Amino acid sequence: MNAPNTASAAATSDPLGDLAPALFRPMGVDGVYARSALYVNVTERLESYVTRLREPEAEVMRFPPVMSRKQLEKSGYLKSFPNLLGCVCALHGSEPSIRAAADRHEAGGDWTESLSASDLVLSPAACYPVYPIAAARGPLPAGGLQFDIEADVFRHEPSKSLDRLQSFRMREFVRIGSPQEIVEYRERWLARAPAIAADLSLPHAIDVASDPFFGRVGQMMAVSQRQQALKFEMLIPYHAGATPTACMSFNYHRDHFGQVWSMHDQHGEPAHTSCVAFGIDRLVVAMFANLGLDLDRWPAVTRRALAL
Ligand code: AMP
Ligand code: ZN
Repeated sequence: MNAPNTASAAATSDPLGDLAPALFRPMGVDGVYARSALYVNVTERLESYVTRLREPEAEVMRFPPVMSRKQLEKSGYLKSFPNLLGCVCALHGSEPSIRAAADRHEAGGDWTESLSASDLVLSPAACYPVYPIAAARGPLPAGGLQFDIEADVFRHEPSKSLDRLQSFRMREFVRIGSPQEIVEYRERWLARAPAIAADLSLPHAIDVASDPFFGRVGQMMAVSQRQQALKFEMLIPYHAGATPTACMSFNYHRDHFGQVWSMHDQHGEPAHTSCVAFGIDRLVVAMFANLGLDLDRWPAVTRRALAL
């Protein structure tokens, strides 16, 4: 086997490199890793901790790693992040044409030329599928809706850095309601953020942020997003002097999804939405990077929070 050993490649180019052999197993592609038992143990405990943070009104839903291509197109994703999207392609067509493509590979040729897009994309964030599901229920009930959702998501941003994966776990608490309900919701979660960081013994800062919108037009979108303070992030340095990594985001989409999915509140106004996203992988790596690989030596407060 001569597949590149990405985890040890990370070890040479990344100050976090000594973590990689304990946490990840290489799978031949940068940013795509198998998780070790040690890593899974902390991930599962972190997930339980996040579950305990959940507000009682939230409806739980879990999504597969793929979603409807049409729904994502309708959400406007291609305007903002076309470079990050992964589309599921397949060999369509007759048995002879599929056979011919596969045979071309066996003969040393390129079978991928025969691929064409299917009706699926890899979900680039956990929350996109929840809005059409909520919209299909009709006008919002009094008090709006809340969801606890999760998906393994994909973003085409290959990197050897352990905090930039192509396939990673995203847990989100989503709120759909009136503008006032949404603003209150996001404020409430921003106010809870320091206690979450303290439970996990992670140094942190909360700051206004923007999404990595694509291209020149995207830069203007990012400026506008910042000016309106639509996105905040919890930033955590992985080691002393490191540029901090965004491990959680607190997003206000205004009425974007309300308009796209014709979702209205009881008064007929377009619904507003917000999502609070936990970058589960980034949080787990942040804990190992800051607290070390020996769970017995993690601070008592964190051992309690994770029921270690
Ligand atoms: P975003 O929708 O960009 O705010 O992403 C939500 C959360 O997912 C971020 O706050 C990060 O914690 C996490 N995240 C985003 N991109 C990556 C990545 N490439 N690798 C790992 N985690 C990521
Ligand atoms: Zn979201």
